Amino acid sequence: MAVENIRNALLDWYDANARSLPWRLPPGSEKRPDPYGVWLSEVMLQQTTVAAVTGYYQRFIARWPTVRALAAADDGALMSAWAGLGYYARARNLIACARAVAGEHGGRFPDAEAALRTLPGIGAYTAAAIAAIAFDRPATVVDGNVERVVARLFAIPDPLPDAKPLIRQHAETLTPEQRPGDFAQAMMDLGATLCTPRAPACGRCPVSRWCRAFAEGDPARLPVKRPKQLRPQRQGIAYWLEAEGKVLLVRRPAKGLLGGMMALPSGPWTTEEPGLDAAPLRTDWKIADEAVSHVFTHFALTLKVAMARAPARPEVSGIWHPISELNHAGLPTVFAKAARLGLASRQKIMGGV
Ligand code: SF4
Repeated sequence: MAVENIRNALLDWYDANARSLPWRLPPGSEKRPDPYGVWLSEVMLQQTTVAAVTGYYQRFIARWPTVRALAAADDGALMSAWAGLGYYARARNLIACARAVAGEHGGRFPDAEAALRTLPGIGAYTAAAIAAIAFDRPATVVDGNVERVVARLFAIPDPLPDAKPLIRQHAETLTPEQRPGDFAQAMMDLGATLCTPRAPACGRCPVSRWCRAFAEGDPARLPVKRPKQLRPQRQGIAYWLEAEGKVLLVRRPAKGLLGGMMALPSGPWTTEEPGLDAAPLRTDWKIADEAVSHVFTHFALTLKVAMARAPARPEVSGIWHPISELNHAGLPTVFAKAARLGLASRQKIMGGV
C-alpha cells in the first residue's frame, strides 16, 4: 500500500477541511496548541460527542484558564461544573492530574507518551493524543473513528474488540514523522465526517483509491463488531424530601459511581425491587407515578422517586438546596432527571404547592 500517498492525500485534505474546534489551531500552524487545552478536551471527549463537549470546554477554560488554576479549584465546584457530562471518574481524575502536573511537573505537561501515562486518568489513547497534537510527536492515536478508518483502509475482517491490536499495528505503519499532530487529527476528522459508521462518503474521500474496503464494494460492513450483550437492569429509589422551599441533597461518597457529585439521597441500585430502607427520614413517603430511566455503561437503571414534605427542616445529614434553584445544583444527568420528575410531581403527590 502506498503509505506515503495516503499520508500526503490525507494531510492535503485536512489542510482544506479540518474541523474548527475550540481546542484546536488551524492546520499547519507555526504554534502548537496549549497542552492543557488538548488534555482537557481529550478527557472530555472520551465517550462523549464534540457537540456535548464544546460548551463545557469553553466554560472550563474561561473559569480555569491554566492547569495551575484547575489544580487550585475547589473539588465540589469542579464536580458541579462537570455535572451532566457523565463518566464522573474522569472529573475526579481531572483534579488529580491537574494537581500532579502543577505539583510534580512545574505546571507543564510532559511531552512524551510514557511520562504522560504516569499521570492520573491518562491512558494510552490520551497520552498519544497529547503527545501528537500538543507536541507534534509521532504518536499513533487510535480512537473509535480512527479504528473504523483503519479497519476499512486495510479491510480487516476480524471483529472488534479482538481486532484492536491488529488495527493498531496497521495504524502505526501510517503515522508520519512530518506533521504527526495534524495527521492524527486528519484521521480523526476523516472518521468523524466522511468515513462514518453507516454511510461512508467514499466518493469524497481523499484516500479512496488506496482503500481496500472501498475496492471490495461494501465498506460499511467494517469494522465487524461482536454483538453487544444486553445491559442488566437495576432498580433504585431517589428521595425527594422538601421543607421550607428547599429540597435535601447529598454529596455522594468520593469513590464509586457518580462519586463526589451532588445528588438526591438514594439507596443502592440492585436487581431487586427496592424498599424504603435508605430513606433519609421515617415518614409517609409517596412514590411518583412515573420513574426515571437512565442508561449507564454497564447497566440500565429504573429510578423511582419517593416524595415527602416536612413542615420544618428535619435534622438529617445533607444540604438543603432552594427548589427554585435546582438547575444550578450541579446534579449529574440521572439525578437532574429525578429532580425534574420530583418538581413535576410535587403538586399532584403532596398538594399545596
Ligand atoms: Fe472510509 Fe470510504 Fe474513505 Fe475507505 S474510501 S476510508 S471506507 S470513506
